[in-house]
Amino acid sequence: MRQKKASISIPIQKSCGKNRYKSKTEAEAVAREQGIIFANQDLKLTAYLCPNCGGWHLTRQKLDKHHI
Ligand SMILES: [Zn+2]
Repeated sequence: MRQKKASISIPIQKSCGKNRYKSKTEAEAVAREQGIIFANQDLKLTAYLCPNCGGWHLTRQKLDKHHI
């Protein structure tokens, strides 16, 4: 009997060292949740598509409150 080897193919993932989200919707949902914390620091979380891993990440952006 031939033994079938269970081969688990590991997807090539370039780790960006960041939390990765499958979709923009997912990333934005997290951004909204965590945005409460960052809002106190004048920071805003923005979702962006990562060219390295094809996933979505969140980046912190400084809120430009004061326009001179
Ligand atoms: Zn990435």
